[in-house]
Amino acid sequence: MSEHYNLLVIGGGVNGAAIARDASGRGLKVLLAERRDLASGTSQTSSKLIHGGLRYLEHLEFRLVRESLLEREVLLKSAPHIIRPLNFVLPWIAARRSALRVHVGLFIYDRLGGRGSLPASHQVNLRRTPWGRGLKNHLRLGFTYADCWVDDSRFVVLMAMDAQNRGATVMTRTDVTAMTPTDKGWQVTLTQANSEKQVSAQVVVNATGVRADRVGREIAGVAETPQVRLVKGSHIVVPRIHAGDHALILQNEDGRVVFVLPFERKFSLIGTTDTPITDPEREHVVDEAEVDYLLRAVAPYVKQAPGPEDVVWSFAGTRPLKDDGDNNPSSASRDYSLELSSRGDARVLTVIGGKITTSRKLAEAVLSRLAPHLPRMSGTWTARAKLPGGDLTDIEIYHDRLRVDFPNLNPIYLRHLIDRHGSLCHDILEGCETGADLGRHFGGDLYQREIDWLKDREWAVSGDDILWRRTKCGLQLSPEQREAVMESMAQ
Ligand SMILES: Cc1cc2nc3c(=O)[nH]c(=O)nc-3n(C[C@H](O)[C@H](O)[C@H](O)COP(=O)(O)OP(=O)(O)OC[C@H]3O[C@@H](n4cnc5c(N)ncnc54)[C@H](O)[C@@H]3O)c2cc1C
Repeated sequence: MSEHYNLLVIGGGVNGAAIARDASGRGLKVLLAERRDLASGTSQTSSKLIHGGLRYLEHLEFRLVRESLLEREVLLKSAPHIIRPLNFVLPWIAARRSALRVHVGLFIYDRLGGRGSLPASHQVNLRRTPWGRGLKNHLRLGFTYADCWVDDSRFVVLMAMDAQNRGATVMTRTDVTAMTPTDKGWQVTLTQANSEKQVSAQVVVNATGVRADRVGREIAGVAETPQVRLVKGSHIVVPRIHAGDHALILQNEDGRVVFVLPFERKFSLIGTTDTPITDPEREHVVDEAEVDYLLRAVAPYVKQAPGPEDVVWSFAGTRPLKDDGDNNPSSASRDYSLELSSRGDARVLTVIGGKITTSRKLAEAVLSRLAPHLPRMSGTWTARAKLPGGDLTDIEIYHDRLRVDFPNLNPIYLRHLIDRHGSLCHDILEGCETGADLGRHFGGDLYQREIDWLKDREWAVSGDDILWRRTKCGLQLSPEQREAVMESMAQ
């Protein structure tokens, strides 16, 4: 007999992981199936912001902006080690947007979703305050406001861990390859490297991002699955180009904005582009023209403008957006839609669009929509819950405690470990007396002990899982050191 689940969630990106977490916390028997690694799709390639999206106000997306603004405080409390406040500076250039327009936008932004703990926006003099450090001298007027930063791929992994802690089964490297309707729901084929497995599920959620329409039509056999519109966005990483802990939001001459975020201490993350594509296989390709676009967007603002030779890393991802018929990829709605379809008594709900920021609210909306087709569930709970490692009241106090408990370990290393694991650092380091107990050192902050944890607890299988998703140590390591991680994981 095949294993039976109340809910099968296909796709281990931010939306699938959030749905699986919420559903398992409400007492459902849940399976989350991801064909590659968790967060290996669009969710690892975001701009890493928990934000309302100031520019979405220009497209009058008030519902989405309000929901997103409110989520900042909820998510901040749930995982303060991987989500933190981030101040933005918008250096003003008269030709790009009027100062009045920026003022009005920020006024609405401050009030639409309530700021809670985040500071209010204000106008600043860039020449006389640290907000202007690294910017060109002719830039005088600026505006500041606050949003939050998130480690996007760790956010996904932590939600999957929480789902598992609450009883869900999480299967990575597991492709959903066939679905047959039955009188009790679906009979589903799961394909792993060398084997196939049959399971049954009362209801299925298709959270496969850019593949949602293909999976809906070809695997679930639902002909009316809506079309997904693909808009690729690329980012580049260069050595730090401005001082301070704040980010820059730069108005580009085409009317778009480009972000420059402090990244992994020594770097700046610059993004993003908006390029329509039709072939999902091109979703991870960063084109030369995109690199050029981003470098040109930054050049009018910063004293030390980076060139192509400064790019140390780049990545691209594709937004799976609702096809609303708008020709402009930048103004296409970033809101989500949920489409419930049936084949006889078998139901599949397809998720299209959404943001990292709204994933928790999206999960609530999914379960409310599916409630009539699922066993009785308990009510909403995720707004007040912590993610694994997130039960910290003050990160610096926790750091002090860690230093006392592990006096022979480098305090800077401990601080960096908290940024990844929060209060779980004690579990990872249990029994560590000296640096030698961390095991093999691969370079930067990466030791065998953490890799073992990531393999045992976080479904890491390959070198890329470790270097670019569970950690960003790939940026600190030389090509030879990265190769050593790859080889060690392949053994
Ligand atoms: C450039 C860019 C910048 C962005 N910046 C932000 C931002 O700053 N803030 C924000 O809130 N949002 C941002 N977003 C939006 C956000 O990243 C996406 O909305 C979100 O990641 C989509 O998540 P998802 O779970 O729907 O899709 P994905 O993350 O793509 O997950 C889908 C998963 O399904 C899996 N899958 C596919 N087919 C199958 C199958 N048959 N069986 C099993 N698994 C399967 C895939 O492998 C994949 O892992 C950005 C998006 C882009 C592209």
